[in-house]
Amino acid sequence: MSRAWNFSAGPAALAEAVLKRAQAEMLDWNGSGASVMELSHRGKRFMELAAATERRLRRLLDIPSNYKVLFLQGGATQHFAQIPMNLAPEGGTADYIVTGIFSKKAASEAAFHVDARVAATSESTDFLTLPPRPAWRLNPQASYVHYTPNETIRGLEFHEIPDVGDVPLVADMSSNILGAPLDVSRFGMIYAGAQKNIGPSGLVLMIVRDDLLARPPRPIAKILRYAEQAANDSMLNTPNTWGWYLAGLTFEWIEQEGGLAAMAERNARKSAMVYDTIDGSNGFYRNDVERAARSRMNASFVLHDGALDSMFLAESEAAGFIGLKGHKAVGGMRASLYNAVSPAAVEALVQFMRDFAARHG
Ligand code: PMP
Repeated sequence: MSRAWNFSAGPAALAEAVLKRAQAEMLDWNGSGASVMELSHRGKRFMELAAATERRLRRLLDIPSNYKVLFLQGGATQHFAQIPMNLAPEGGTADYIVTGIFSKKAASEAAFHVDARVAATSESTDFLTLPPRPAWRLNPQASYVHYTPNETIRGLEFHEIPDVGDVPLVADMSSNILGAPLDVSRFGMIYAGAQKNIGPSGLVLMIVRDDLLARPPRPIAKILRYAEQAANDSMLNTPNTWGWYLAGLTFEWIEQEGGLAAMAERNARKSAMVYDTIDGSNGFYRNDVERAARSRMNASFVLHDGALDSMFLAESEAAGFIGLKGHKAVGGMRASLYNAVSPAAVEALVQFMRDFAARHG
């Protein structure tokens, strides 16, 4: 049985070394006589795993000591709603930069709990561009500014961290965290669903600055308060221990592969291979995203004739590729190129794309 070339947007490919290690440790993890899933999260072994996992992440991202690391649940979507409850007072306002379907949803979910103002949007270009920074109408009184550095559906990425002055910047990094080195100190809060660059779904990683945790709490349930999670090692209730374990193995794998600088170099190379193939196809394939904002993680493309879509998908599947179908909201194709997608997989994909174009051009 051979593994497919997996370009899924999420849940997405995990590093093969991580899966093999998990497989080897499945029946007897760390000398415990049980799998990691079968042990108490409060036991010594798991507590050690949790601490070691956090240490590794802190090393990878060089996280300053005035930030807490949380391992939460609920998917990024739940935190769209929970973030305003925690960071803004009742009746408060927050600014949202809307550059795609996820940031739009973040704003609309937040609107139940805060005056979520759209300070900038590129919806008029169908989210194929980033709104130019000088056109953002930021409110200096906002509790925070929220943006999505990488919009997964179009593959639209900020290649620089926007300057928003003294208002804390909150970033949904679900689809680009750990893809490159990052200056964490520029952010008030970073959060990410795990199922792309971290591990399996069901886990949300959050990095949050202490002063944001110290904001006066609203009268919300304890389980919803980040400060409570921080004070209780993210164990207010039973956490996703399996996800936490796989995240730890993934962080270890990234370190062994050379850390985030190595990931960034590989990801730049991989995405350039796909975009060069698209751009060099004489219009057979097209990517309409503003050049300077093309994503290194999700390369979307359409075929010059939509009638070829189903053939592209059927032939690519027969050739061993999975996950290339674009998001239903925009159609076309999308190759997600997260850390665990090897350069060899991308080489195979671009070869297939060239062959397909030659056969059907
Ligand atoms: N934000 C971004 C950027 C995403 O790509 C996704 C999809 N995984 C989400 C939010 C929603 O994540 P979840 O399904 O984990 O709630």
